[in-house]
Amino acid sequence: MRFSNINNLLWILSFFVLSLFGYMVYSNYSLDKAARYHNSVHSLELYSKEFDNFLLTQNKFINYDIINKKIEKFENNLEFLSSQNSIKLFPAKYAQLIKNIKKSFNDKEEIIEHFKSNNAQLLYSMHYLFDLTKVISKESNTTIAKNVKNVELNLLKFYINPTTDTRNITDKIAFLENLKQHNETLKYFLVHSKLTLHKIIQFHIMKTKQKENKLQKNILALDAFLTNYYEQNIYVIKIVIFFFVVTVISIILLLIFTNKKVEYMAYHDSLTKLANRTNIELYLQERIEKFNQETSKIAVLFIDLDRFKNINDTLGHHIGDALLQEVASRIQTILDPTDILARVGGDEFMIISEKRINLFSPDKLSQNILELFIQPLKVQGHTLSVTMSIGVSIAPDDEIDAAALLKFADIAMYEAKESGKNRYRFYKERLSILANDRLEIEQSLIHSLHNGEFFMMYQPKYDIKTQKTIGLEALVRWQNPKLGFVSPDKFIPVTEEMGLIIELGLFIFRQACQDFIEFEKHSPHLKSISINVSAIQFYEENFIEKISKIIEETGISISKIKIEITETHIMKNIEHSMEILQKLKTKGFEISIDDFGTGHSSLSYLKLFPINELKVDKSFIDDIPQDGSSVAIVDTVITLSKHMGYVNVAEGIETKEQNDFLLSLGCEVGQGYYFSKPLKANDLIAFLDKE
Ligand code: C2E
Ligand code: CA
Ligand code: CA
Repeated sequence: MRFSNINNLLWILSFFVLSLFGYMVYSNYSLDKAARYHNSVHSLELYSKEFDNFLLTQNKFINYDIINKKIEKFENNLEFLSSQNSIKLFPAKYAQLIKNIKKSFNDKEEIIEHFKSNNAQLLYSMHYLFDLTKVISKESNTTIAKNVKNVELNLLKFYINPTTDTRNITDKIAFLENLKQHNETLKYFLVHSKLTLHKIIQFHIMKTKQKENKLQKNILALDAFLTNYYEQNIYVIKIVIFFFVVTVISIILLLIFTNKKVEYMAYHDSLTKLANRTNIELYLQERIEKFNQETSKIAVLFIDLDRFKNINDTLGHHIGDALLQEVASRIQTILDPTDILARVGGDEFMIISEKRINLFSPDKLSQNILELFIQPLKVQGHTLSVTMSIGVSIAPDDEIDAAALLKFADIAMYEAKESGKNRYRFYKERLSILANDRLEIEQSLIHSLHNGEFFMMYQPKYDIKTQKTIGLEALVRWQNPKLGFVSPDKFIPVTEEMGLIIELGLFIFRQACQDFIEFEKHSPHLKSISINVSAIQFYEENFIEKISKIIEETGISISKIKIEITETHIMKNIEHSMEILQKLKTKGFEISIDDFGTGHSSLSYLKLFPINELKVDKSFIDDIPQDGSSVAIVDTVITLSKHMGYVNVAEGIETKEQNDFLLSLGCEVGQGYYFSKPLKANDLIAFLDKE
């Protein structure tokens, strides 16, 4: 998953969590509300029961204040329940239920009022009977008094307790009626007793009717509704809490994962998934601290692909990237599980290989890696040959310090590059070269020029179409009595460091000019002599004056001379180079850019330089026509040269195949062993004569 996707996911999850949280707050609020409603409903239930108790049991000793207060409280609760619904917390059914309760409560209230007035009347009757009883017991005989008292007491009993047997009362009334010796008071008493009995019966009937209780039913319905609502909400909220927890955990996990990923990205190369520089340096540091110097060794291999930039420039970055992945996985196939491969830069890899001394062979490892790439790579339809330069440093032999080992491996890698690429070099080896070879060369060079140890050879440059020599490149040779023949690749850098190159350069220049005047006589096609100029000469103050003087003295035509300067040198100091090139050009020299393609020059700069010729570096010619990227580069340079009006030269042509292929690409001038090796002056004259 890509980073941005994770971030998006995090946003979505956070939004989700917030929504869930919001919902939980809302639910909590509504449940809280529902709970409070529920409490109110329970109060209603209690009050309603009290109303019934009141109606059923309270007879004689009525305190209407209490019931009135309860009615008031009931009303308040009902008011609360109906008013709070203005926020529409509950569905419409709720309002209906409240309405039902209100209606049955009104009925109940009416009954209570009815009860009150009935009760008042009954009490009044009871008092009246009591008064009559008192009077009768004073003025009548004991039998009558006893019976009257009995009726009065039983009525009171009946009033209080509806289950009382009323036959006793009716019997006594009948008995009293049959006595026929009534006075007025007794008559009143009998009429009133009967009336009261009837009223009490009616009263009790009215109370029993209340057993069918609508109010209670409606309240219970509301109760059930709220319970249901509560339970449903609790269920939903449980689900919501579940999701909330899951999402929060996901967010936490994702954050940990992203953090891991950041960590991973910081220590890993995203393209090859190999360790990156930071990672491998830390690893090396750790190994250096821990390894046992007596029994083990650690090799640091610094690997740099040769001319990778050209692949990137000509075939595009996606091919370059794919190539790097291929290279990484190919190298990985021959590594031991304990060897660590890292990508430490654009086209740079590093291997840390720690082994017991008897198994330690970094030379074999390096050689194996180089051999891995003899077979070209197939990358997205392109066949690309890849070579690399490897530098090796070893702990504890070279150093027991991570930073130093890395630096040494790097230096050794440059040595490998300098000495022709596609090879490996040990840091130690470099030291010995520096210490021995180089010292010897330096000492031998001191008197070499005066001893006449240098001489010139000339290599023909030919027209690829006509296969005729049209130019020459002057190449210096050194034959030392003690060292024998030393390659210019080895001694030129030393002369540069010694400053000897200035004097040697003038010798070469003079010799080449003199010889060329001679050669011209032997060939009608010969147009120019190319002379290599080192950067040290090039930037020397009086360089132009000095060579101008030689030209005057030798009498060569200035336009016949091509100054060859390497692309790398020009690019080192663009402004200064430009100034000198401009001066040379004004003087009438031709200018050739040597080893083109190795110096990473940008084409936009190239346009600015006053140049006449581009020499495609030999390393590209080596790989054509098999290697796609080399073909692409050579093709591009040829096209570019034509476009800009430069002569294009392919150097190092060794086979007919290369020659023919270059011809097909439209290349104009060639140089190489295929046509001719560099020749001594005499041999060249013979060669020209033969033409
Ligand atoms: P360069 O200027 O690139 O010269 C071309 C080198 O490629 C020469 O090597 C030449 O002999 C070699 N060569 C030509 N055709 C072929 C071929 O088909 N196959 C192979 N394998 N090699 C081929 P050389 O003469 O050893 O010179 C090496 C380098 O030394 C030159 O590279 C140049 O940078 C430097 N050098 C040589 N002569 C002079 C000189 O007179 N002055 C200066 N400043 N540098 C020189
Ligand atoms: Ca050259
Ligand atoms: Ca060259």
